[in-house]
Amino acid sequence: MTRPTGWGLIGASNVAREWIIDAIRAQPGGEVRAVLSSDEARGAAFAQAHGIASHTTSLQALLSRPDIDAVYISTNNSLHREQTIAAARAGKHVMCEKPLALSVEDATDMVQACNHARVVLATNHHLRNAATHIAMHGMIEDGRIGGLIAARVFHANFLAATLQGWRVNDQGGGVILDSTIHDIDTLRFLFDADPTSVFCMTQSGRLARDGIADGVMAVLRFPGDVLVQIHGGYTVPYAPGGIEIMGERGVIIGRDCMSQRPIGSVAVRTSDGEHEIQLKHHNLYHRAFELFTAAIHGGGRPAATGEDGVASLAIALALRESARTGREIGIKLP
Ligand code: NDP
Repeated sequence: MTRPTGWGLIGASNVAREWIIDAIRAQPGGEVRAVLSSDEARGAAFAQAHGIASHTTSLQALLSRPDIDAVYISTNNSLHREQTIAAARAGKHVMCEKPLALSVEDATDMVQACNHARVVLATNHHLRNAATHIAMHGMIEDGRIGGLIAARVFHANFLAATLQGWRVNDQGGGVILDSTIHDIDTLRFLFDADPTSVFCMTQSGRLARDGIADGVMAVLRFPGDVLVQIHGGYTVPYAPGGIEIMGERGVIIGRDCMSQRPIGSVAVRTSDGEHEIQLKHHNLYHRAFELFTAAIHGGGRPAATGEDGVASLAIALALRESARTGREIGIKLP
């Protein structure tokens, strides 16, 4: 028999509206039972628009409900820490949005609180769930292109007008913590490794203000002397997104694979020419919530754990530090 999972949404956010409510409801027994908003009227409107039975402005009221097993946190980044720790103390499992927090210390506190309370903490790094990245990971693991030498990630676009809020005018935003952090997490997933050092330069001023980055070029060194280049940005219309992974015997080419949508292709180019890999696409968020739901009921682990969220945040913050200081920054993970 399907075990029901009662969810509370912490944050009446765009990402919850666009992707997450559907992903929760796609799970057998997955029910969105309440939404928390800091604004009574917005919470009421959100609940009504999405058929959610109750709404509240009180975190404690939401967390004290016995019919809520897990929470999805998608508030502003500065609130993730306090809300995650409160949820853990109330015995609720947590799927938290990235960046987990704004400092490594805060993110580590979140992991520790969830471990202490024996609840599952996951970070919503959705790209790990894409059929494209799963296929590329398998090909690297199978040695299809030999030893790795280098990679390039293209993940720049033009930020929709509706999203030009905290991303471009709040120090908790900026392209690195908002978007490049996903590229970092994806590389960690693809290579099963963390970079040892990073170097980064940023742009600001085309859309973002006060030195907040709206464009980034970074170089990461991974173990085995593998160099990776990332280009990210909010200001570039029409740019294709993708990844190229260069090995001693060939190249893996992921096209249109840095998307929230289940699209894109993967090809491998070797001495046999270029061959497209057959993919069966699926909704990235459905898979994230499927693995999370299994994990809270005792089976397996989420696609990206709390520890993954900490590591990807630490590397993203090292990119910011490199851009600020003009220095290569060594990575020390907690
Ligand atoms: P939103 O700006 O839509 O929501 C963030 C908060 O802003 C909400 O919690 C809400 O507060 C408040 N808010 C929303 N709409 C309004 C409004 N009209 N007026 C005033 N306040 C409003 O953020 P996003 O959905 O873009 O991002 C939320 C989180 O999710 C971030 O941490 C982000 O990094 C992450 N994210 C992750 C994605 C992924 O694919 N993994 C994709 C997009 C975002 P309240 O709840 O109090 O109402």
